[in-house]
Amino acid sequence: MIFDTHAHYDDERFDEDRFELLEELHKSGIKYILNAASDIESTKMGIMLAEKYDFVYTAAGIHPHNAKAANQNTMRELENLINSCKKVVAVGEIGLDYHYDFSPREVQKECFITQINLAKKLNLPIIIHNRESHKDVMDIIKAEDAKAVGGVFHCYSGSVEMAREVLKNNFYISFSGVVTFKNAKKIIDVVKFVPDDMFLVETDCPYLAPEPFRGKRNHSGYLPYIIQKIAEIKGLSYEKVAELTMENGRRLFRIQ
Ligand SMILES: [Zn+2]
Ligand SMILES: [Zn+2]
Repeated sequence: MIFDTHAHYDDERFDEDRFELLEELHKSGIKYILNAASDIESTKMGIMLAEKYDFVYTAAGIHPHNAKAANQNTMRELENLINSCKKVVAVGEIGLDYHYDFSPREVQKECFITQINLAKKLNLPIIIHNRESHKDVMDIIKAEDAKAVGGVFHCYSGSVEMAREVLKNNFYISFSGVVTFKNAKKIIDVVKFVPDDMFLVETDCPYLAPEPFRGKRNHSGYLPYIIQKIAEIKGLSYEKVAELTMENGRRLFRIQ
């Protein structure tokens, strides 16, 4: 029984077999899936999936890539969508991406700040996307007091020092297939460091398939490879890591 806390089943790469795949995954032991949104359309698709399937929950939010297309109406629509469905359990993914810079940085920051405040207003945890923007993300989290709702740094890519700050601010750390990559060194130190009650696992599918599937379309059925790798690093059993990440995910997203 495992919980994939970050997936993109709204992605077009699942257009061909979305429903069959989700049903098959659930039968094969994926107990919960949390769909992460990237814009209004994907939020709608996440809500559709959450309403169709008991085991699917969803987040709602505007990814930093899409910040430049967002305005006040977008934010109003987002809030209405969140209020329309009880299975929206987080605001996300939101944050900053200075690797691609698809939206101007100032616009990304404004969109991030607006959504942190929406999460606080609605009392929902936040799912953070942070790529090559560590300092600005941490500065904004502190300035906006995001600690009040907390959340998770998804697909964590920072150092142990930063992980300390992340935990202090009431945020969990989520590990993806990157832990299985041959060049993963920094992230292994973070896996060793993070307390048992403060980490999650995710596929971020269709992106970031773990080894030995690197480069292929990812899906929640590959999550065991990530759990197994973390179990080896932490010196715990596979079952224990599955159980911890299930409990942690249910606690953070308040899934009964
Ligand atoms: Zn992301
Ligand atoms: Zn994502």
